[in-house]
Amino acid sequence: MALVEVTNLKKSFGQLEVLRDITFEVNKNDVIAIIGPSGSGKSTMLRSLVHLEDINGGSIRISDDYLVKDGVYSKPQELKKITAKMGMVFQHFDLFPHLTVLENLELAPRLIKKESLEVIKQRSKELLEKVGLSDKAKVYPSKLSGGQKQRVAIGRALMMSPEILLFDEPTSALDPELTGEVLQVMKDLAREDMTMIVVTHEMDFAKEVANRAIFMDNGEIVETGHPVDLLTNPQLDRTKAFLNRSL
Ligand code: ADP
Ligand code: MG
Repeated sequence: MALVEVTNLKKSFGQLEVLRDITFEVNKNDVIAIIGPSGSGKSTMLRSLVHLEDINGGSIRISDDYLVKDGVYSKPQELKKITAKMGMVFQHFDLFPHLTVLENLELAPRLIKKESLEVIKQRSKELLEKVGLSDKAKVYPSKLSGGQKQRVAIGRALMMSPEILLFDEPTSALDPELTGEVLQVMKDLAREDMTMIVVTHEMDFAKEVANRAIFMDNGEIVETGHPVDLLTNPQLDRTKAFLNRSL
C-alpha cells in the first residue's frame, strides 16, 4: 500500500480553481520532485497535504488514516495525529525569531510532551549534528545565513520523526552559493531512505536524487515519469515549453 494517496484533490480560492483533480501516490522511500511554473498550484498542493489549506473535494490518505475522504475531514483530534506524520520545510524558513536554534528544534516536541526532556535533548543534539550546526545551538536565527536557517528548518522538521518530509522550494530564497549545503542535507536524507516530496526548480537535484518527477501546470498533473526521462525527454508540449523556458 502506498504511504500517501491523493485522489481527485480539488481546491479553489473563491472562483479561482487552483487544483483540479490531482491524483498521485507516494511510496515509502520515494523522493518525488514537483516542478511547474509559478502559480500552477504546487504550494497549495503541499499545504493541503499538511492541512494548511482546506480542500474542496477528493481524498488524502496518509499511511493508515484519511486526513480527508471524499471531501470530509477526519475529526479535529485525529487531524493533529495525521498531520504530525509529515514535516514541512518552507521557502522562507519560517523559524521562530525569538528562539535560539536549539529552542526552535525543541519547541514542538516539548509542547506535545509525549517524551521526556532527556529524549528530546538527545535528538536535538543528534539532528543539529546531522545538519552541521552543532556550534550554532545557542544562536538566534538573525545571526545565521540563509543556508544555515534552512538547515535549522530541516532539523526542526525532523524533530517530530515524520514519516514524510515536504519541501516547498527550499533553496529558492537562497543565494546560489548557499543552495549546495541545503541540497546536500536533503541528499543525505534521501540516502537514508527518507520519503520526500520536493517542489523545486533545481533540475540537477531532481535528476540526481528523485526517483519520480511530476510536472504540474494550471492546477493539473500534466506529466509524470522518471526525472531523467521527464526532464531530458518530455513527451508533452506543455512540459517541453516549460522546460525550454526554465533552461
Ligand atoms: P505555485 O506554488 O505553483 O506557485 P500556488 O499554489 O502558490 O502556486 O498558487 C496557485 C494559485 O492559487 C495562484 O493563482 C495563486 O495566486 C492562488 N492562491 C494561492 N494562495 C491563495 C490564497 N490564499 N488566496 C487566493 N488565491 C491564492
Ligand atoms: Mg509555490
